[in-house]
Amino acid sequence: MSQLPKCPECGSAYTYEDRGLFVCPECGHEWSASQVDEQVTGVVAKDANGNFLQDGDSVTVIKDLKVKGASNPIKQGTKVKNIRLVEGDHNIDCKVDGFGPMKLKSEFVKKL
Ligand SMILES: [Zn+2]
Repeated sequence: MSQLPKCPECGSAYTYEDRGLFVCPECGHEWSASQVDEQVTGVVAKDANGNFLQDGDSVTVIKDLKVKGASNPIKQGTKVKNIRLVEGDHNIDCKVDGFGPMKLKSEFVKKL
């Protein structure tokens, strides 16, 4: 599982999880995990397993992906570090070793 998010109300890092909700001990704010992902990133992206992705996550590519202008595809199993979520069809902005800056679809990756 990912780290607990900061409180969206007051920015406190001391949040804890209680029965599926996140609770902030400092201001008493409670919220659900699905709301958090939208607030934190502004973009909702899910990987092949339906897990929410966040900026800074590391993922693996689950199938060979053809790259325009490159002679080789990005191989299945390629690790991609420090992704950034963006709006659009290809909702992951990242750097792939050997390929450089690249946009991927979140449905073709799996969170590490
Ligand atoms: Zn708070």
